[in-house]
Amino acid sequence: MGTIDGLPTLRDVIRDHDLVARKQLGQNFLLDLNLTAKIARQAGDLTACDVLEIGPGPGGLTRGLLAEGARRVLCIEKDPRCLPALEQIAQAYPGRLQIICGDALQIDPLAHLTAPIRVIANLPYNIGTELLVRWLTPPAWPPFWNSLTLMFQREVAERIVAKPRTEHYGRLALLAQWRCDARIVMSLPPEAFTPAPKVHSAVVHLTRLDGPRYPADGAVLARVTAMAFNQRRKMLRSSLKGMGPGIEEKLVSAGIEPTARAEEIGLEQFCALARLIG
Ligand code: SAM
Repeated sequence: MGTIDGLPTLRDVIRDHDLVARKQLGQNFLLDLNLTAKIARQAGDLTACDVLEIGPGPGGLTRGLLAEGARRVLCIEKDPRCLPALEQIAQAYPGRLQIICGDALQIDPLAHLTAPIRVIANLPYNIGTELLVRWLTPPAWPPFWNSLTLMFQREVAERIVAKPRTEHYGRLALLAQWRCDARIVMSLPPEAFTPAPKVHSAVVHLTRLDGPRYPADGAVLARVTAMAFNQRRKMLRSSLKGMGPGIEEKLVSAGIEPTARAEEIGLEQFCALARLIG
């Protein structure tokens, strides 16, 4: 049976280019093009968008993005062994795929992209959270991207969408939900990947809001939540002592019981507290 784009199957691509997966590069490849096209569709209509993809590997998701009509795709791949396979895709989609070989943590992709921009990636697990935090904390808001559609280990995905009083609730949830709508849109078992990782995965779709959900200074909010969750089992009146004098009164003014614990407090109350601490 033919593939969605007439290019060789990903199994053949991997064999022909000898792309034996390397663990230190977080290489767990998606080989089912119907699945990668489905992931691409979770980001919405791509036809009027540029897409930034980190870590295309042999190009399974890249092909899904292009087949789903992305206006242009810019991909950044650290492993030079993948370049010939990616060049073959670029030839099949003239003018629509640009490939940069390098470390996504070191490269500023902005010069190569035109708004509106969507980030869509099956991220290498070792740098996934770091990239997400960077994208969520740009120097100015709105950021360069309109949405992020990202594959993570299931546990990281749960941390991004978590609500108060649940196991995974913490700083990442607050950071993501302060200026984005975030939801899990797909779940994938280990067998969806080659080689199969030890854990389940999930795709999170984040859409940026025009501004913060509740007003607060980002740096103060980050400091308060870091201190509160560093000792998440402690009462806030003791975990936040380092925030300066009068913290107990400020907690009360923000509508927070001083004896409450960080995991019980919602985003709106944390923002109110950050404004009082200012
Ligand atoms: N997108 C492909 C797929 O879905 O099958 C591959 C995903 S694999 C989980 C992660 C990819 O990121 C690998 O191709 C790996 O070589 C690449 N990678 C790892 N670290 C990177 C980095 N710092 N910068 C860019 N790419 C990186």
